[in-house]
Amino acid sequence: MSHLILVGGGHAHLTLLQRLDEFFRRGHTVTVVSPDRYHYYSGMGPGLLGNTYLPQQIRFDIQNMAVSRGATFLHDSVTNIQPAKKRLMLSSGQTLTYDTASFNVGSEVVIPPEVEPDEALFPVKPIVNLETARQRLLVTPAGQKLRLVVVGGGPAGTEVAGNLRRLLECTGRHGEILQIAGHRLLANFPDRMRAHVLKQFARRQIDIREQSHLAGYAGGRVLLDDGSELETDGVFLAWGVRPPALFRKSGLSVGEDDGLLVNRMLQSVDTPELFAGGDCLCFKERPLAKVGVYAVRQNPLLLENLLATLAGQPLQPFNPQRHYLLILNTGDGRGVLHWRGHVLAGRWVFRLKDRIDRKFMRKFQ
Ligand SMILES: Cc1cc2nc3c(=O)[nH]c(=O)nc-3n(C[C@H](O)[C@H](O)[C@H](O)COP(=O)(O)OP(=O)(O)OC[C@H]3O[C@@H](n4cnc5c(N)ncnc54)[C@H](O)[C@@H]3O)c2cc1C
Repeated sequence: MSHLILVGGGHAHLTLLQRLDEFFRRGHTVTVVSPDRYHYYSGMGPGLLGNTYLPQQIRFDIQNMAVSRGATFLHDSVTNIQPAKKRLMLSSGQTLTYDTASFNVGSEVVIPPEVEPDEALFPVKPIVNLETARQRLLVTPAGQKLRLVVVGGGPAGTEVAGNLRRLLECTGRHGEILQIAGHRLLANFPDRMRAHVLKQFARRQIDIREQSHLAGYAGGRVLLDDGSELETDGVFLAWGVRPPALFRKSGLSVGEDDGLLVNRMLQSVDTPELFAGGDCLCFKERPLAKVGVYAVRQNPLLLENLLATLAGQPLQPFNPQRHYLLILNTGDGRGVLHWRGHVLAGRWVFRLKDRIDRKFMRKFQ
């Protein structure tokens, strides 16, 4: 009998959580460690901010998924890994020993010292922060003009800016929305995509500032790298994510971004009893974008490989796809789609995204 620990109940662990009986049938015990009862699906997070979805429509009750199937659920987080002793240290002070462990602890928005967190600063991860922001904006008096700043010119920042406008509109609020896009809006995508968003956002009075970077934030004031300062009622940080420092601090082999360095089997390159899925890993063969698509695709493989490793059987490789479909929810009932260099936009694009996302929710909820 072996002890499997699942650390984090993110997008890559959902199949494992759903099929825990496969471990119990073979006589293993399973513990799930997560700081949160719910896991929010990032693909629908901007739609939650924009009042398109309710919180209960976009989250998985991972505590219930674990406990109803007979696993132990610990409302806790892992702070250190001691691979030589096969031991995990938790923030509560408790320690756990494992035979095999799988990590799906995601990624974080980096907050540098020049940014002082307060109740008006919302890093876009964890996704539940978008719900906190929505609640906060909804208690402001309807007549108050809000000044909102989104930092980041990538897909997440664009979706957040578009859905902030939707939130203001559908709740009868007024406000200025400014997206600080860094070097260039949607810099890693075709010009057509950027041009489409620029045009749409101009129409919806969302200001985009390119060649502009955040240099600091404190007490409701945003400082930009050209020396200008802005007063704001809310700042959304969407300037990129990286894995937590957990693996590096525990002395495990990590990639450049501090993600757990894994081989094609999603197994730590130096500690074979440790596995990882989603944003927290660094795939040794080639770097993978931090997108949920890969986390979702890793689900069945993690199940197969964890069962195989506990049984001493050979493991299967993960073959990441080179291209993936990206659909932005721009918050006006439309979507913008990117697939292998092609860009399409329209109401049907949002409907397609909504259908894909709801199907994913139904599969695991
Ligand atoms: C606004 C926004 C929109 C996005 N939209 C899309 C999209 O449409 N399509 C797409 O493909 N990608 C999208 N992404 C990217 C996507 O969010 C990530 O790639 C995805 O969340 C990765 O999933 P994950 O399970 O690895 O991590 P996460 O979703 O971050 O989940 C990690 C889990 O681990 C838990 N955890 C963290 N630390 C610990 C610890 N120490 N101990 C125990 N548990 C821990 C957390 O509570 C959390 O439940 C979006 C990102 C953002 C910010």
